[in-house]
Amino acid sequence: MKRWTMHYCQLCDPPVTLLPDGDRALCPAGHYSESARRQPLYVVTGASGAGKTTIFPFLAAELPECAVFDVDWLIDPIGVVCAPEPINWVAFRDAWLSVAHGVAQGGRATVLLSTFMPEQLEDLPARRWITDVHFALLDCTDAARVRRLKSRPSWRDQNTDRQLSFAAYLRTQISTVLQTDDASPATTASAIAEWVRR
Ligand SMILES: [Zn+2]
Repeated sequence: MKRWTMHYCQLCDPPVTLLPDGDRALCPAGHYSESARRQPLYVVTGASGAGKTTIFPFLAAELPECAVFDVDWLIDPIGVVCAPEPINWVAFRDAWLSVAHGVAQGGRATVLLSTFMPEQLEDLPARRWITDVHFALLDCTDAARVRRLKSRPSWRDQNTDRQLSFAAYLRTQISTVLQTDDASPATTASAIAEWVRR
């Protein structure tokens, strides 16, 4: 994978990528270049139909001390950036880690609503600029998921079988699970906010 990074030493030539050292970025030659505060990242993931889009406004209101994003909001603009090639999803995920690092400069943590999987973030170049990454799974029963996906407009992804198997896979990977079958969006958002604060 091509390496790219946010922080380069401003004293060295050619460019040298920096490593985190406390709240600063350290050059291998010993230069401290920039402020680089780090914060944890909270990823709320789930297959389609789990309720991510529905809870987003509730969660943003519940967590004013964090920056809360639905990563799908950048799919269309990044698609324009990448066109005519398809979206580079590795770069897409790395860009979100960079956003979280930017938010951290103001002392706030970031919460991402996404379909990201833990193993997709660990090797990204920007991962070093985040402290801990915590995952929670937004989940529902297969019956609820099928019902929700069928009620969507036809232009949305309705590959139900793929989403059911993705949901089953995520259950094997993530131990913090929030069920949305009978919970209101506000209740689910409160539970996520409690998880983040804990
Ligand atoms: Zn240097």
